[in-house]
Amino acid sequence: MRGELLFLGTGGSAGVPMIGCHCKVCLSTSARNKRLRTSALVQIDGKNFLIDVGPDFRMQALTHKIERLDGVLLTHTHYDHIGGIDDLRSYYFLQKGKLPCLLSQETFEEVKVCYHYLMKPLKDGHTICAQLDFFVLEKDFGKVTFGDLEWKYVSYHQADMKVTGFCLGNLSYISDIRRYPETLVPALMGTENLVLSALRQTPTQMHFGLDEAIEFSEKVGAKETWITHVSHDLDYEEISQKLPRNVHLSYDGLKIPFEMK
Ligand SMILES: [Zn+2]
Ligand SMILES: [Zn+2]
Repeated sequence: MRGELLFLGTGGSAGVPMIGCHCKVCLSTSARNKRLRTSALVQIDGKNFLIDVGPDFRMQALTHKIERLDGVLLTHTHYDHIGGIDDLRSYYFLQKGKLPCLLSQETFEEVKVCYHYLMKPLKDGHTICAQLDFFVLEKDFGKVTFGDLEWKYVSYHQADMKVTGFCLGNLSYISDIRRYPETLVPALMGTENLVLSALRQTPTQMHFGLDEAIEFSEKVGAKETWITHVSHDLDYEEISQKLPRNVHLSYDGLKIPFEMK
């Protein structure tokens, strides 16, 4: 069975262009240098799974005509990954049912505090809030059946925040990675298509730099690596020419294929 991953957004937390910035990339007219906040849609077997629901989600859903969702997977609760969660209410009205949402225990605890109103039980089928059915991951690494598919999940850190990565078939989606346990690389073995974050050329407190991302993809042995969560530091054309043959800068609207094993 084959599936596709559609990059809905490939930008860092500020997006590109950044408010008030007049750098070459922010002023660029190339569509490849316009980056909404990072999110992706996994399409397989007629189903749509959303990875993260950032503040640009509404525009992403309208642009790509996402009119049905079968599940949402949350990596962590930074605003750029979850700020559009309230817009998921549209799917309750469209689908007349709760949307399954897969997340770690830590992410769930944060969602409960930040979005406490999403936890209220539905009264008489009337709601003005998103309706989510939370599936909480029990461990840091493991397998889980979600949306009738077997997903693998892994954990790593960005400063003090635990982040979850998701794998489906030969695809792995690892965003917002800074620190990781030794067990992560072996857990990702067999990945052929690696989606990986790198914010800038140089590392930051929260993100891999580009060289670190390349090194990580080599360790994993990914056939193809797609860099996402990119800031205005990286010009698409300029950087694309310098990358190794099997490492690519992703861009909003790009689709990549993957296979279930
Ligand atoms: Zn982020
Ligand atoms: Zn800029």
